[in-house]
Amino acid sequence: MAEEKFDAIIVGGGIAGCITGYILAKAGLETLIIERGNFAGSKNMTGGRLYAHSIEKIFPNFAEEAPIERAIVHEKISFMEEKSSVTMDYAAPKDDEKSNRSYTVLRTKFDQWLGDKAEEAGVGLIPGVRVDDVITRNGKVCGVVAGGEEMEADVVVLADGANSILGEKLGMVSKVTPHNCAVGVKEVIQLTKEQVNDRFACTDDEGTAWLFAGTPSDGYMGGGFIYTNEDTISLGVVFGLHNIEKAGKSVPQMLEDFKNHPSVKPLVKGGESVEYSAHVVPEGGYNMLPKMVGNGVLLVGDAAGLCLNVGYTVRGMDLAIASGEAAANAILAAKEKNDFSENSLSSYTKELDDSFVMKDLKLYKDLPEFLDNKRMFNDYPEMATGIMKGMFTVNGPSQPLRKTVMPYLKKVGFINLMKDAFKGVKSI
Ligand SMILES: Cc1cc2nc3c(=O)[nH]c(=O)nc-3n(C[C@H](O)[C@H](O)[C@H](O)COP(=O)(O)OP(=O)(O)OC[C@H]3O[C@@H](n4cnc5c(N)ncnc54)[C@H](O)[C@@H]3O)c2cc1C
Repeated sequence: MAEEKFDAIIVGGGIAGCITGYILAKAGLETLIIERGNFAGSKNMTGGRLYAHSIEKIFPNFAEEAPIERAIVHEKISFMEEKSSVTMDYAAPKDDEKSNRSYTVLRTKFDQWLGDKAEEAGVGLIPGVRVDDVITRNGKVCGVVAGGEEMEADVVVLADGANSILGEKLGMVSKVTPHNCAVGVKEVIQLTKEQVNDRFACTDDEGTAWLFAGTPSDGYMGGGFIYTNEDTISLGVVFGLHNIEKAGKSVPQMLEDFKNHPSVKPLVKGGESVEYSAHVVPEGGYNMLPKMVGNGVLLVGDAAGLCLNVGYTVRGMDLAIASGEAAANAILAAKEKNDFSENSLSSYTKELDDSFVMKDLKLYKDLPEFLDNKRMFNDYPEMATGIMKGMFTVNGPSQPLRKTVMPYLKKVGFINLMKDAFKGVKSI
């Protein structure tokens, strides 16, 4: 039997866990975060872009204090073929409205800052300890087993990220399968601040987010990304695991080939790889969400499958923050009533339903199926680069543009083109 009972124990000191802990401790609840890594963020990875809206609500003007890298003012999307690429480029000044902005972050620094904030608010943060099990009594979760000790709490929050083993043990989360997740591999490449500025047309505190569709994921669902940090870049590839057997190479090889693509090589030239990481991305979307509330237990962030990849934006961190806030609100309301039953805690999912989290997940619920189409990552990038080549190559008499375009349209097929356009519009 445990000696001390907490109001809340949070498993995982990532973004979702630290936000939940911060709000609970600030309201005076005895809160413990247990993190298996040596410090908050030590084991965490992301592509790199944090949409500010949800964290601005909790820490107004957070970017003035938090270790953010650069504000994104430059958006690029490339369709990439073996040796060429076509890029759409959108640049706009930093938005005056702070909650409209987005920032690049490195999780080792950013999560540590959030962990410190949680500790300052009164959270007990235990790093370097893994939670091995959840204690259930009379059908209610009432604590955890960590480091060989039992620790009790009115409520346990599972913020243990994608592939929540504890959520699975409780029967709330389905086993990770190649059909509901992708894998991301990423390198952080050291350059100088001036090199980042020059190569990506940035100023000192402003930067670029760049997504690539086509060859980076070997023509299958997924893609490449580059985010500019202060004096490094985050470069990676995300790949939908259900296609792994069909792919002609491993995901680390895709990353290597992406770095060596003629459009990318000059951007990383002379840079030194200072971090290499791989992580699961929950990609099932709305149709594969787990059970998020039980008696004495809540799931937040990636553990709850709250991640959204719509092709031109990848989001999980703003959803993790909003879910942490909603979970904390539900726990505070449950504490008032001293009722931590599933029914009482279900105000969590009601708040999520009314928020952008569920609204956006619902809006894009058909997108994973739409994107899982080889034409998106093969034929269309090939068509885009081929048309550009035709338009910009002059060697003797020019031919009408329709003659350049026609072979690509024929290859894709007019019916497929119409189907994809219709389904694409419908799914967004
Ligand atoms: C390649 C890639 C690119 C991405 N790009 C973006 C992007 O650009 N923008 C965006 O918003 N999102 C992006 N995401 C998604 C985003 O990173 C996640 O949604 C987000 O990190 C989820 O935060 P979390 O706190 O829920 O989980 P995590 O950050 O995974 O934190 C979980 C924490 O729990 C700890 N933990 C796990 N098990 C235990 C245990 N048993 N005991 C104790 N501690 C435990 C872990 O060590 C970790 O600290 C990307 C993800 C990947 C993989």
